[in-house]
Amino acid sequence: MPELPEVESVVRSLAPHLLGARFLHVTLLREESLQQGSLPLSELCGRRILSLSRRGKLILIGLETITRPSTLVVHLRMTGALLCHPSATPLNPHTRCCFSLSSQHKPLALFFDDIRCFGKLFLATESMLRSWKYFAELGPEPLETRLALFEDRLSQRKSATIKAALLDQKVLAGLGNIYADESLFHAHILPTRPVESLSHEEIKLLLASIKHILKKAIKGCGTSFRNYRDANGHAGAFQNELAVYGRAGLPCLHCHTRLKKTRVCGRGTVFCPRCQH
Ligand SMILES: [Zn+2]
Repeated sequence: MPELPEVESVVRSLAPHLLGARFLHVTLLREESLQQGSLPLSELCGRRILSLSRRGKLILIGLETITRPSTLVVHLRMTGALLCHPSATPLNPHTRCCFSLSSQHKPLALFFDDIRCFGKLFLATESMLRSWKYFAELGPEPLETRLALFEDRLSQRKSATIKAALLDQKVLAGLGNIYADESLFHAHILPTRPVESLSHEEIKLLLASIKHILKKAIKGCGTSFRNYRDANGHAGAFQNELAVYGRAGLPCLHCHTRLKKTRVCGRGTVFCPRCQH
């Protein structure tokens, strides 16, 4: 599942293609890909793209105001991808929505592909966004979070395991299984520890580790597991730097102990039984 670094890489790779481009046609090929309560995507036609940004794991496409300010939100979830192609590129079997756009350079096609169909498109006004519970409850952006705020958010999940708290989008926005495991390894903290057992120093080290790992992953354009690709169809490179995720049974990069795998809140979790306490 694309997490913060992958979504950030998608946004950065989309920007040169999409900023200033105007929607001409939209073809929604699968109704389930449209979030319940969304405005009809036909309202996009004729509108220019003014901004591209990310909030947690969401892509936010800011639109020129015609009657009211609105945003096209794209949630990639498990297998969603936004890919730019030359116009008239044939659809593929997993294309769920196809957008035609005119831009200064050339006409282009933007495909929302999604094999598993968990991803969503949501065209929303500002007030619709504000009243969307998932969006309204998103925690702070990890790269901009100060220690006091992180501690405050964690204090609301005291009895949870630290891994579960990191996966909770209300604690921090954008972390998922890969970067939760990597950050906990980097901070030498066992994923199964209850939040309330962590000292101030450990939480400080954990937040620093999260920021370090996320920045490195963004630099590597994300992790390419399964089918993640950026807007140009390029894979990320951070999978070559993963210390624990996907390495169960292999030797720890620090101490050579065999890495163990367990389940925490239903998610496969890899850790070093010697380096993490
Ligand atoms: Zn180790």
